[in-house]
Order: sequence, then structure tokens, then C-alpha cells
Amino acid sequence: MPIKNFILEKNDALQRVDDDFTFTVAADGRNSSIRNSVGIDIQEIKDTELSFSCDAYIHNIQSYQKHPGTMLQLSKSKDRLILVPISDDNFYRASGSWTIKDNNDPENSIRKKINTFLVNSDVSNISNITVYKLSSHLSDTFFSNNIFLVGDCAQTFFPNGGLGLNTGIEQAYFLAKEITQIMQNPTLSRELSIKRYEETWRQEVLKRQKTSIEIKEKISAKSFPRFTY
Ligand SMILES: Cc1cc2nc3c(=O)[nH]c(=O)nc-3n(C[C@H](O)[C@H](O)[C@H](O)COP(=O)(O)OP(=O)(O)OC[C@H]3O[C@@H](n4cnc5c(N)ncnc54)[C@H](O)[C@@H]3O)c2cc1C
Repeated sequence: MPIKNFILEKNDALQRVDDDFTFTVAADGRNSSIRNSVGIDIQEIKDTELSFSCDAYIHNIQSYQKHPGTMLQLSKSKDRLILVPISDDNFYRASGSWTIKDNNDPENSIRKKINTFLVNSDVSNISNITVYKLSSHLSDTFFSNNIFLVGDCAQTFFPNGGLGLNTGIEQAYFLAKEITQIMQNPTLSRELSIKRYEETWRQEVLKRQKTSIEIKEKISAKSFPRFTY
């Protein structure tokens, strides 16, 4: 039965969609409302350790960077810190591992952590602190009620390995070819295309999720060198 009556957010406005579609491609991200609306469950693996993210101005770190304002990824003995430049005036998005004892004074703990990695750095205006557990998930099916799930809606990965966006783009390309074939030649079996998408990507995602966990464990096991981009 085709999906009907779902809400599409377009140009910051909510719009009800009442059309019948041959297929719907759900690419609405990790917390997909389309996936939830047809009751597709997900299996999730959560990290045991906590992570944090925040914004901050960070000065005096030029000696650690290849070029001013480049990204930094640092790790040592199970501890890690990533700084992504947001603007030219030393404003960064920082993320890293978190320990329970950091909970009393998050700002100070983050400042200390950055200073541990980047000695003599000057950290100010820490804001937007969030603490969370990293996770990955896999949807129980990639197709239901004429809806294909693609990208983060279908699965997510632990961040190590840079697999999320890459996998989503590959799935979209694969699916576009399958749907084009079905639409152009109605004698072709829809079921075969659906099966090909489901089987190819379930197997591939499981393999890639295993890889991302292996990379994560390797990084936790020893001090990795510093990366700059
Ligand atoms: C900090 C971080 C770093 C990452 N680094 C990498 C990396 O280095 N390499 C890599 O490959 N991947 C990386 N990823 C993962 C990557 O960002 C995701 O896998 C990718 O963005 C997923 O794309 P998507 O289109 O499936 O979902 P999303 O990017 O979540 O896009 C879904 C879109 O749907 C929109 N939407 C939701 N509901 C509705 C609605 N009702 N109506 C209209 N629009 C709607 C949302 O606004 C959003 O724009 C990273 C992720 C994070 C959080």
C-alpha cells in the first residue's frame, strides 16, 4: 500500500503531501519520521563511554597546525579531541571523549582537556556543550510500504572511517538506477530490484559497521599520531 499523507518540511514550512507515489525514498536522516511512520524498527549499538561536543574560541595552537585554521584530530591513551574550524577568527567546533568525573564543571573540564592536548592554548567562550553516547544503527528492513530507506535513515556508523555520507551516496546511486529501470521497463520485476537493494546493502552495511567498530577499537587501544587536515 503506498504511503500517503506525510508531512514534508519545505522552505521552513510544513506541507502535507497527499499524492500517491510509485515509490517513496526516505532520506530524512537518523531520526526519520517516514521510517517511524511505517513502524520500521532499528537495531542500535551504543558506545559505553560518553562523548562531548561544544563550540569555543581557541587561540595559540598554530604550532600544532600545518596551516592556520585547519582541522586537528588528536588522540592518546583512549582519550581523543577533534577540532573543526568554523570561521577564520579561531572559532572551532570541538568534540572528544568525556569522563563521568567531568560532570561537575563541564566548561572547566573541556578547557583542561584542550590544554592537555594543546599546551599553552587559550580557550574562551565555550558554548553549546552537549554530552552523548556515540552509536550506530541498522534498520530491520530497507524497504516497506513502497518506501526505500537511504542514508542515515537506513543506517548509521560510528564516526571512525567516514562511512556515513559515502554509503548514503552509493545507496542513492544504486537505487536511482534500479528505480529508473523499473519505471522505463514495466515488464521488469519490481520484486527483484527491491530484493537486490535490500540484500546488497544489508550485507555491505554490516561489513562496513564491523570495519568502523574495528577502527574504533584500534584507536582506543593505542595512541595514534596527530592528524592535521
Ligand atoms: C560530526 C559528524 C561528522 C561526520 N563526518 C563524516 C565524514 O567524515 N564522512 C562521512 O562519510 N560521513 C560523516 N558523517 C556522517 C554524515 O554526515 C551522514 O552520514 C550524512 O549526512 C547522512 O546523510 P543523509 O542525507 O542520509 O541524512 P542527513 O544529512 O541527516 O539529511 C537528512 C535531511 O532531511 C531533512 N529532513 C528531515 N525530515 C524532513 C521532513 N519531514 N521534510 C523535509 N526534510 C526533512 C533534514 O533537515 C536533513 O537536511 C558525519 C556525521 C557527523 C554528525
